[in-house]
Amino acid sequence: MLTHTLGYPRVGSNRELKRKLESYWKGEAGADDLRLTAKKLRVLHWDDQKKAGVDLLPVGDFSYYDHMLDNAVRFGVIPERYNVENNRASLNDYFRMARGEAGENGVAAMEMTKWFDTNYHYLVPEFSKDQEFFLADESILEQVEEAAALGHIIKAVLPGPLTFLLLGKCADQEFDRLDLLEKLLPAYEELVEKLSAKCEWIQFDEPVLSLDLEESVRKLFSPVYRTFKEAAADTKILVASYFGGLGDNLETAASLPVDGLHVDLVRGAQDLNPLLKHLADNLSLSLGVVDGRNIWLTDLNKAVAAVKSAQVVLGEDRVMVAPSCSLLHVPFDLDLETRLDAEIKSWMAFARQKCAEIRVVADAASRKDVANVLADNRKILEARKNSPRVNNPQVSKRLAALKPEDYHRKSAYEKRAEIQRELGFPILPTTTIGSFPQTQEVRSPRSGFKNGRIERADYESFMRSYIEDCIRRQEEIGLDVLVHGEPERNDMVEYFGENFDGYCFTSNGWVQSYGSRCVKPPVIFGDVSRPNPITVEWTDYARSLSDREVKGMLTGPVTILCWSFVRDDQPRSETCCQIALAVRDEVADLEKSGVKVIQIDEPALREGLPLRKAEQPEYLKWAEECFRLSASCVEDSTQIHTHMCYCEFDEIMDSIAALDADVISIEASRSRMELLGSFRQFSYPNEVGPGIYDIHSPAIPDTDDMALLLEKALEVIPAERLWVNPDCGLKTRRWDEVVPALKNMVRAAEIVRRKIQ
Ligand code: GLN
Ligand code: ZN
Repeated sequence: MLTHTLGYPRVGSNRELKRKLESYWKGEAGADDLRLTAKKLRVLHWDDQKKAGVDLLPVGDFSYYDHMLDNAVRFGVIPERYNVENNRASLNDYFRMARGEAGENGVAAMEMTKWFDTNYHYLVPEFSKDQEFFLADESILEQVEEAAALGHIIKAVLPGPLTFLLLGKCADQEFDRLDLLEKLLPAYEELVEKLSAKCEWIQFDEPVLSLDLEESVRKLFSPVYRTFKEAAADTKILVASYFGGLGDNLETAASLPVDGLHVDLVRGAQDLNPLLKHLADNLSLSLGVVDGRNIWLTDLNKAVAAVKSAQVVLGEDRVMVAPSCSLLHVPFDLDLETRLDAEIKSWMAFARQKCAEIRVVADAASRKDVANVLADNRKILEARKNSPRVNNPQVSKRLAALKPEDYHRKSAYEKRAEIQRELGFPILPTTTIGSFPQTQEVRSPRSGFKNGRIERADYESFMRSYIEDCIRRQEEIGLDVLVHGEPERNDMVEYFGENFDGYCFTSNGWVQSYGSRCVKPPVIFGDVSRPNPITVEWTDYARSLSDREVKGMLTGPVTILCWSFVRDDQPRSETCCQIALAVRDEVADLEKSGVKVIQIDEPALREGLPLRKAEQPEYLKWAEECFRLSASCVEDSTQIHTHMCYCEFDEIMDSIAALDADVISIEASRSRMELLGSFRQFSYPNEVGPGIYDIHSPAIPDTDDMALLLEKALEVIPAERLWVNPDCGLKTRRWDEVVPALKNMVRAAEIVRRKIQ
């Protein structure tokens, strides 16, 4: 029985690619040096997978930056502004597209957006209406040669044409990108022909099969893949769907005129039986039974059962075993974790370990003797289920005792707003989103304290002096509601995770987020609770320095959930509810110590949205409930803020309102307040601070320009409910950018106040 992976992590066990890329960008390493690192990594990664027992090795999954950008360059899809001769991008052009170029002849990077519901970001291909395609870049063929020279059995991997077009955008005028299909196919066919001479298989990734598709789009799959099949001669073609079940695309997928179909049986377990019924005779079925999105050990016995049931219907030759999706989304190697608690570690599997898992599953299904491994696996899973580390009876008791009123503020917004007038804020109050510049100067005492290089007393006195500086500067700028600046936080989720029970941290569990940027999500392994107050002391200290109100700053339960590796042994909604209670405890403690304004950030609310429309209402319902659970314990007089950014909010306006925060600050300036349209249509009931300056740019925003934006906002939001703030936190900016920018912002508020009063 064949095993394969859909792709492997690229950056290397020690993030070698990240380091080399960054030194190349700085001009320290040359192109050959970078190419050599890339080649070494590919060789190592194939070797790793082969040793673990993977039969078909992916080639083409490696990328210097992103696989969608690779595909754009491969087929000559280069936006005009990069001015690339003959549309054949050099390595440098490639990075200019990925990252933009500063300076006088600078050029903006391509847009980046989330790859489905993962935390990986791809570069959005830009198609013009008269787009031409040709096989512009053959580096995948070179990689195939590399693998062939090593004697590997090769499966070339690239984005399928439908996913490529659907996930792109129109460069200039709007048009149906699928109209380009006919022109795109010959370029693909040429590549298929060239690859087929050298590969056993070619895999086309079509994860759009896990999305809601129009019938007219579904109809395109079969003819497209028939052409590819013809071009491929004897080489086999696999179409891969992942990130969800096939839903009403099942028939389309099951009847593809190719050789294999890969499906995600972790998220789409329900597809197996209908597939076994409807699968066309020509198709082999690749079963994605090992979770490529999470770090937990697979229930091998369950996976074997699924594979066996497929085998009974299809026969051994037509079944393949694989992870659910590319292993790009999990860290590299669990063996590198030397500091993890041994028991918790025994419950996990990273990319390397997952390769070994698929081998065992395949072996077990083909009646090889792996009984010991299966028995061990059962034992470990049993131990995990019953471990006191996972189960905290206190937490389950609390959850069971929740009452409907726990999810609601005492009074409705109107009444609260009246009471909160006593806070004495002026009309159009000014504030910021929480963080202030985090230079090396803040980062180094923080990390020094973490690895024991700096004493607690020194660390704390440093943090206090930062907070003091922050408060003084805000007073001088003239802001109405102050913040302490968040110097103690390396990351808004990690910081809370570190202070919650039920969380653990890897030392090397890096996952690519975009380009050379990797994140190391914390891990929720057990019931979550908050043993001690986390932010109260810092906030109190900040409050002691000023007569103005200082906001308490927290991260919301949905965001904490979305940016962690979440346990897979209970519904996400339940884990989120536990986090909500932990945050609620912190909210209560802040209020008790006298904090009057508390902000609970939920930037990730939108990104947790399921890919399928039909599944969205349920998610939104529990996400709203969890937020309200975290915030609703306070008196009417305490003002709850929330903050959101990085997304389109249109489709979730109802939910944003249902959070019932007194005030929401929301990213808006890059779209010149377009988002206000949705606030108008919906007549958002509470207070809003649409960001009026883009913190992503170093440019100092102009006072009059911001005043204009405020006036625009006033057309939709009455003055009593309008706040004045930037788009997001300021931690990535410098003080000499932040201070003048905020001064201008405060001045803009004054100008508009004068006009309306
Ligand atoms: N309070 C956080 C900050 O200012 C919010 C960050 C975010 O929205 N991503 O940094
Ligand atoms: Zn933000």
